[in-house]
Amino acid sequence: MFKILKKDKSTNARTGILITPHGKILTPAYTIVATHAEIKCLKPQDIAKTNTQVVISNTYHLWNFVPKQLPIYNFKFTNKNKKTFLLNKLGSNMPTMTDSGGFQVFSLGFGKENKVGKILKNGANLRMYANQQIKRQQIKITDKGVFFNIDGQRRFLNPEISMKLQEKLGADIIFAFDECTSPLDDFKYNKKALERTHRWAKKCLSLMANRQSQDKQQMLFGIVQGGRFKSLRVKSAKFIGSLPFDGFGIGGSFGQNEMLKTLKIVIPHLPEEKPRHLLGIGKIRDVFNAVENGVDSFDCVIPTREARHGRIYTRHGHYNISKNRNKNISLEKGCKCPACKLNISRSKLNALFKADLPRAQRFATLHNVWFFNNLMKNIRASIDRGSFKTFKKKFLSGI
Ligand SMILES: [Zn+2]
Repeated sequence: MFKILKKDKSTNARTGILITPHGKILTPAYTIVATHAEIKCLKPQDIAKTNTQVVISNTYHLWNFVPKQLPIYNFKFTNKNKKTFLLNKLGSNMPTMTDSGGFQVFSLGFGKENKVGKILKNGANLRMYANQQIKRQQIKITDKGVFFNIDGQRRFLNPEISMKLQEKLGADIIFAFDECTSPLDDFKYNKKALERTHRWAKKCLSLMANRQSQDKQQMLFGIVQGGRFKSLRVKSAKFIGSLPFDGFGIGGSFGQNEMLKTLKIVIPHLPEEKPRHLLGIGKIRDVFNAVENGVDSFDCVIPTREARHGRIYTRHGHYNISKNRNKNISLEKGCKCPACKLNISRSKLNALFKADLPRAQRFATLHNVWFFNNLMKNIRASIDRGSFKTFKKKFLSGI
């Protein structure tokens, strides 16, 4: 269940509360990535200390972990502490999401082969790829589903299998199976992929409708696709937005600086009263822009991945710990994260990274994840006070 608590008067920002069988999520919220149902470098008992409200795990990557004999999770939440497969692995009791596996259609089947991300990099444009033949040799996509042949491993995913896997994993919020296209795909390809995604969306809804009544507590989000094409984005937002999903994901690829434009096109067509999740986006500037346009949650590897590379986030931007060898000062002045509370200084953390000790990445991850969750808390407070725009301006001018 989702309830809007406060709407900002001058923007589309809003605060809300998303109630799941495993706890509530105050929105806007940063969803921390736990690909294999673990936040890399953190111990289960660390998760709560970072104020993480929700994590997202990856259906495709968890496939091998799901024992075949595991019964589909029975959603009888009479006992709040009842552990799903995901929560057992995570070692923490909290709201969870799983993606549908559709993003891997792009990231494994396309992005890896063509060395392109879901957002074209700064300075990159389509001409740079003009002579590059688009390859999809490791996957085959048909209306039936997606055949993967990656590193000798053959797999097949379709709406039925994605939904079944997600049911077994037992996340509170799951996503309809979709095809995420690449920023290099043309209109014709995107149109075809979108029609397929729309058929799959309806299929996922009908599979959910046919579940036993007690197993319907998972919230199913539909995904708006359409790539870089305005007409397709509008078409997708109208179609997916008209279906009885519990919430909506905005997925797919974007050209450089196109994410914001896409949100402005898509969001007006989505029902006001339902939650909206932006998939795979989470840079600070993008977070503010997404919230300003009415996004309630997003997920991104930035807090965790950057931490593992020694990049530390602060309200004044981020720095590299390797350049702070002689700085006997805190990671960030006044920070109340578990690492800073232990007085881990920049020089100390630098030494730990140099010695390649596991706790180096743990401390950095604790700090960064706490930082992003704290940023969201401050964003929510600014919306509640009616001063989101001022807060955004001030924060972004400092980074
Ligand atoms: Zn800190």
